[in-house]
Amino acid sequence: MDAGAGAGAGAGAGAGAGDGDADVVVVGAGVVGCLVATEVLARVPRRRVMVVDRGLAGGGASRFSAGLHFPRGATPRVRAMSAYSQRWYADLCRRDPRVPIHPVGMTVVSADEATVREHYLPEARLRPLPEARLPEARLRPAERGWDGDGAHHADVAALTELLAARLRGRAAFREGSAVTAVRSTPDGVVLTLGSGIRLTASRVVLAPGPWLPWPLLLAPLGVRVKKVVALHVERPVAPHDRATVFHDEDAFLLPLAHRGHWLFSYTSPDWHVTPDALTGGLSADDLDRGRAVLERHAPALAPYCVSGRVFCDAYSPDRAPIVRPVTADGRVLFAGAAGGSGYRLAPAIAAAAADLLDGLDEKDTA
Ligand SMILES: Cc1cc2nc3c(=O)[nH]c(=O)nc-3n(C[C@H](O)[C@H](O)[C@H](O)COP(=O)(O)OP(=O)(O)OC[C@H]3O[C@@H](n4cnc5c(N)ncnc54)[C@H](O)[C@@H]3O)c2cc1C
Repeated sequence: MDAGAGAGAGAGAGAGAGDGDADVVVVGAGVVGCLVATEVLARVPRRRVMVVDRGLAGGGASRFSAGLHFPRGATPRVRAMSAYSQRWYADLCRRDPRVPIHPVGMTVVSADEATVREHYLPEARLRPLPEARLPEARLRPAERGWDGDGAHHADVAALTELLAARLRGRAAFREGSAVTAVRSTPDGVVLTLGSGIRLTASRVVLAPGPWLPWPLLLAPLGVRVKKVVALHVERPVAPHDRATVFHDEDAFLLPLAHRGHWLFSYTSPDWHVTPDALTGGLSADDLDRGRAVLERHAPALAPYCVSGRVFCDAYSPDRAPIVRPVTADGRVLFAGAAGGSGYRLAPAIAAAAADLLDGLDEKDTA
């Protein structure tokens, strides 16, 4: 074992991996990494799992997330992932009503009924707006609205910290530990940390969010990073306020009851940003663009957009999450690039990563 690795991961003897510091190291303690670790342990509790993060658990894109889940997907694969994640979160809420996940009513607005009907899951049970009008927004000519079920929003940072707290004791944590190099060798995957410590694992899941270090491994995935902006609308929220999804603009208005204000998320056109450079908060362009979109849909709210949250997310070429091996031996996986939907698809991303790990274990023991 390399110096400093010590204090083995979680309990148990491992899943047939034998040596090394862990059976599975998850790099990245965002909502995706924490759910990967949770799923991997749920399937094989004796696995020795370690979670490594350059900062603090929940401190990446997950810290900024609006946390809206709605039951939709542009392709059959993403719809299946959305349905799976919806069931997973519903089950989590049933098991533990204290998790920071809040059901919210949903109204979808679009001028393209056929696309809406195709993209939303049957679970949404879309039905025309009872009065053809919206309390906070207005329908533009040609637009229609549908009320639907199955939406919720989460305090993703708090949820990620909770997941991490529940993992502790079962998985080892290394925070403040950037992984600077990943190398697959016949004896296992060797991870080098910024501190100089080296770790060895049987398998590694890379869940780095919008950070894309290790270009040799990750460049073939074609992932790009885009700014994600949500404005805060400083208006009070009532208990039964609904989320409105402006489907054609990929924007939404969300009442954040737990914070006491509304949030307006719109699509930023700023590609090729880097997370560590996004420390300056909202720019004048971010504010102007967001207000211009909101003016079209809810002009009365635009003057109350005075602040917001800015970060970024990783996008795959087809905008669907990537969960796949990035080394020839299959021992290093990438999980993420959900393109602004990483919270709502995280349980399905974690399940797909765990499926791949289970397959590797079966191959090794065959
Ligand atoms: C403003 C905003 C609003 C959003 N709204 C929504 C929404 O409403 N619904 C939705 O589904 N999604 C939304 N998203 C997207 C969602 O938040 C992200 O897709 C999701 O949080 C990504 O989770 P993650 O775990 O992959 O990444 P992160 O949360 O970024 O976690 C990755 C972790 O990896 C760590 N890391 C990176 N590199 C290294 C390294 N070399 N070594 C060790 N650790 C490393 C980082 O420190 C970080 O903690 C939003 C995003 C933003 C920015």
